[in-house]
Amino acid sequence: MQASLDNEVQRLYHKLHPLGWSRDDCELIAPTTLEINTLKHQQNAVILAHSYQTPDIMYGVGDYVGDSYGLSVQATEHPAQKIIFCSVYFMGETAKLLNPGKQVLVPRVAGCSLADSISGAQVRALRREHPQAGVVCYVNTYAEVKAESDACCTSANAVEVVEAMPQDEILFIPDRLMGLNLDKISSKTIRTWDGTCIVHEGFNVDSVHDIRRRFPGVKILAHPECTPGLVAEVDYAGGTSGMLNYVRNSEAHTFMLVTECGLTDRFKAEFRDKEIVGTCILCPYMKEIQLDDVLKALKDPAPEQFIEIPADIAHRARASLDRMFELEREGRAILAERGTGALPWTA
Ligand code: SF4
Repeated sequence: MQASLDNEVQRLYHKLHPLGWSRDDCELIAPTTLEINTLKHQQNAVILAHSYQTPDIMYGVGDYVGDSYGLSVQATEHPAQKIIFCSVYFMGETAKLLNPGKQVLVPRVAGCSLADSISGAQVRALRREHPQAGVVCYVNTYAEVKAESDACCTSANAVEVVEAMPQDEILFIPDRLMGLNLDKISSKTIRTWDGTCIVHEGFNVDSVHDIRRRFPGVKILAHPECTPGLVAEVDYAGGTSGMLNYVRNSEAHTFMLVTECGLTDRFKAEFRDKEIVGTCILCPYMKEIQLDDVLKALKDPAPEQFIEIPADIAHRARASLDRMFELEREGRAILAERGTGALPWTA
């Protein structure tokens, strides 16, 4: 037992030391990560960790680290029948929609400023006000909102999905800032809702200018949930996978990530030859999740940790996700025909 614990401390130290964790820090969490990893194997479970989780979760117990949609898709290909999704509640719902036959649990019932800004009833009211418009919802929404929308989208395919919608007018919900960014590059009339991500709306363009002055040659990457003024000033705007590809393929050495601190940690851990500079902002919802909550989900789960979606809502929400794939393909063809190809958010 002592040997396993020593090995666990060593494993954690190797992963977490580059992020500033000491051996003492690793010794403190090792009994819990060891218990979680043992239970996980005994129960044939897989632990998905969103990139905004803390390093002890991402690298201590997570089997896969990524963005919510990518992780949910990955889980469909994994043989495990139990999914523990370390993230906020709506992300657990997305995993359940894509893995209806599996048990999906979240360590905490954590909210999100964006997802909490709109309900299914509010989407129905919007539809009554704008009957001529199509409704596209960002994936950062609850299942009941997806169920009331014509199609879902991610930050990676929002442009294609919107361009392929049959209507000229689009209600883009709930992220106002992403909707405004979309409005700058889309041929459609975009109407927005007043939701925002409290992390990404918190950055201002002055910090970008300051970093450019202090680090000549720096490449600055932002999420399209940031303000259009900021997005216009960066070298690349996109979601997690787009940012990863950009850094992986760039010859630059220094980067600033205008996003949540967990992703900054992830880049520091995974690109040890690159330098990540500047500040980041913590998401208080994501940071609610602690190792003890993950342990509880495996050892003695509370009823609220299980994701259950009423069948009718699940059916319609899944249809909205399926429609996303069709529209993404059609949108790509439309953009290619126009000769524009894939439109970057920074256009
Ligand atoms: S970073 Fe936090 S507030 Fe922003 S969309 Fe993600 S969960 Fe919601």
